[in-house]
Amino acid sequence: MKKIMILSGAGLSAESGISTFRDHDGLWENHDVMEVCSTQGWIADRQKVTTFYNDRRHDLASKEPNYAHEILAKLEHEYRGRVMHLTQNIDNLMEKAGAKEVIHLHGTLTDLRCEACTKTFPVGYAPQEGDEVCPHCGNKRVRHNVVMFGEAAPEYSHIQEAIRQSTLFIAIGTSGTVINIIPIAKEFTHSIIIDPKRQETASRFDPHSYIDEYFEHFIQKKAGAAMDDMMAIIKEHMDD
Ligand SMILES: [Zn+2]
Repeated sequence: MKKIMILSGAGLSAESGISTFRDHDGLWENHDVMEVCSTQGWIADRQKVTTFYNDRRHDLASKEPNYAHEILAKLEHEYRGRVMHLTQNIDNLMEKAGAKEVIHLHGTLTDLRCEACTKTFPVGYAPQEGDEVCPHCGNKRVRHNVVMFGEAAPEYSHIQEAIRQSTLFIAIGTSGTVINIIPIAKEFTHSIIIDPKRQETASRFDPHSYIDEYFEHFIQKKAGAAMDDMMAIIKEHMDD
């Protein structure tokens, strides 16, 4: 059976006004990324990190899904059980657009996680005040549910699963710096990369200069503007 693997990144949510640390030279909303997004930073100052994610969660409340989120949510419903969407984004805009099965590789802003039993529970857009209790085990030590540099990302196990199951790979708005998309693209005969810019490959030993050269189709547009072209390729692939 033909199936689609989607890997999305910051470029998917950029048109909704979500900023990421990739935007400004290692700064994320004027914070040093290593202070707010690494295990060292977390050990050094838990309150600073907690406040940072409280602010991101507050900002997220006013953000709306864009056209690309809506099309991808519709795609999930149209090909129920045949789309595996893995996102690096921690926002909930896919869910706001109606998606139900998106896998968040780097966690979610709208949940908290228990440090004892590691289970998550919803917090919505509310700040973490420090008096939260894990509803699963009663533990009082809870934290944001965002994967930091220096810790394991258990959801990554879904990447290999998606590669094995899928016949079409679509990379949307991801530069390939956190998750290398070249080895993934190499596993597929059919693939699409959506990016407004050509991204150079990181290694000089690559046979190609640009990441898009590893893909069957390159749609050089922002995510929203690329959706019609993407859907045409998907329809041809799935109906063939
Ligand atoms: Zn717990």
